[in-house]
Amino acid sequence: MARIAILWDWQLWALSALAAQEKWHETMIFWAAWTNSPAAQVSPSIDVTYKDTIETVHQIMGWEADVVTTEWENIPIELILAIEEAWITMYPNSKVLDIIQDRKTEKEAIKNAWEEVVDYITWVNNIHSLQRAFDKLWAGILKTRKEGYDGKWQVSINSQEDINKLLKENDKFWLADRIFEKKEDLYCELSVVVSRRPWGQTRVYEPAHNIHENWILKESIIPATQSNISISAETINKAKEIAENITNEMWVVWLLAVEMFVLKDWTIKINEVAPRPHNSGHWTIESYNFSQYHSHITAILDEDFEELELLKKSHLYNLLWNEIDSLPRNEDWSWYRYYKWWDSEKQVDVYYYVYWKWYGDLPKWRKMWHIVEVSELEALNWVGK
Ligand code: ADP
Ligand code: MG
Repeated sequence: MARIAILWDWQLWALSALAAQEKWHETMIFWAAWTNSPAAQVSPSIDVTYKDTIETVHQIMGWEADVVTTEWENIPIELILAIEEAWITMYPNSKVLDIIQDRKTEKEAIKNAWEEVVDYITWVNNIHSLQRAFDKLWAGILKTRKEGYDGKWQVSINSQEDINKLLKENDKFWLADRIFEKKEDLYCELSVVVSRRPWGQTRVYEPAHNIHENWILKESIIPATQSNISISAETINKAKEIAENITNEMWVVWLLAVEMFVLKDWTIKINEVAPRPHNSGHWTIESYNFSQYHSHITAILDEDFEELELLKKSHLYNLLWNEIDSLPRNEDWSWYRYYKWWDSEKQVDVYYYVYWKWYGDLPKWRKMWHIVEVSELEALNWVGK
């Protein structure tokens, strides 16, 4: 039995804490943003503020954590360094987080693994450098280098007019370092989750076919080969190989989710990586014998992975803040809980995951719930590692 300290407290952390508890480990959430946050509903928690690095490290030491983990790649790097300086095992470590917190160093690390990324130009920090980038790459997306998620702070630049619009932005807009990415003409998007133990043992999950709406992941179909896209075994195996390669090259210990673009000529370009369980991998709970959350806990404790076995097909839907009213309400629902029933019309088992985030002040685009529809696999013969 181990004592696992978890930094941050939303739905991914709740699911990891549950996976740890299933194996009789103790979990403690450090920093509940509010008392009823999803993770604090399923695990004891201690309130700390990450800005007070010393106090946070003291609290973690006081609880006698065996290992510290987080699923928020933007945890202040100073805190991660302080935890490491106190000789507490921390996964992911500061090296990996430091790279991934900046889109520029992240892309460089992917290129060091000899994998392809979308064309991009860095140091786009004012209207003039944006103009130069646009003249070179044409239609593209202006992204912040740091702290972006769910499309936050991304601006589509399709024409000169879009640039002219940005002329009206005040100086504050340009304070954040930005990167300009060429807009790719996508056939589809895939993501692959890989888990890796300290000395290199890996497990690779089947690629998910991801469908985005307004930059936000709306649906994932797993395995991608059983989605409505026509994708070859070769492309699927290539996607898995690429994901494993990047994970090894970056020396990630725990999980790496690799988001990929498949272009119309079947080349694969890496969009970005996330060192954590991934939203597009929630379904591993239903579809596999061993979920991404179990892999996460197993990797950071350096225990043996089980062989992965794909058992079911899943279709995952994310529900955003403005969609929650369409769901049946039950006053007894607590923060985190799921319901299962058989949908005889669609012939699927349906699981509802309710994060029950506090609606009040949340932006409308935040993910609030997800649904997984589970059915029998259509063909198993060539899916698998
Ligand atoms: P986030 O960090 O918010 O997840 P991403 O960079 O993954 O941001 O972008 C979100 C989505 O926007 C992608 O999954 C994809 O659908 C679309 N997108 C992002 N960059 C590009 C690009 N260069 N070309 C085409 N589509 C893109
Ligand atoms: Mg993304």
